[in-house]
Amino acid sequence: MGIEELKFEIDDKGRVICKNHSNYDHLIRPCDYFQDLYLDAELTCKTCSHYENNDCYFSKTRIDEIIKRGLKKAYLCRLCGKKIDRMLSIIHKLYYKETYDVEMPLICCDCYEKIKSNEFLSYSKKMTDFYILNIVISIFFLCYFAFFLSILNVQPIFYYILIIPLFSFVCFIISVVIRKSIKKLRYFYFGIKYYKKHFPNQESKV
Ligand SMILES: [Zn+2]
Repeated sequence: MGIEELKFEIDDKGRVICKNHSNYDHLIRPCDYFQDLYLDAELTCKTCSHYENNDCYFSKTRIDEIIKRGLKKAYLCRLCGKKIDRMLSIIHKLYYKETYDVEMPLICCDCYEKIKSNEFLSYSKKMTDFYILNIVISIFFLCYFAFFLSILNVQPIFYYILIIPLFSFVCFIISVVIRKSIKKLRYFYFGIKYYKKHFPNQESKV
């Protein structure tokens, strides 16, 4: 008979551990530095015998589907948009949503650490500044590069075979950097809003 109720615990690093996991004792055992380092890779249903025997609350097919969606970046940190790698965190969220209709936010380990030390707002401000600076430098570089090319005195043929392809390539790289930075800024904007709404007592330490 399969497991009907899953139980979880969260360790001091914010890692979700499934109490029904067949390696549970190993997962919670005090670890040295290297064991601790590799623990993340073991926090998955793939290493659990209930997955192998297909007798978990989540079927084997469902778990495979969750892993597939995870690889496609379907599960992102609610605060910064980083991809969530820890599968048990995703399972934890899905289980609470399906069983109790409770929306658990997915939070990456970096954000979790910052929330714990009450530094999330200053961290997100630094990251926001970093991405704004990225955009400004990218635009400045592009303008400077365009100006440099415009004052080059070369044969027209070089414009077609070298300058135009090179400029197009640089434009492409810059557009990727700017798009990624805007995306990150958007995540942090909504992440900060979410944080302020759900952690109102921690606002002071900006
Ligand atoms: Zn995060």
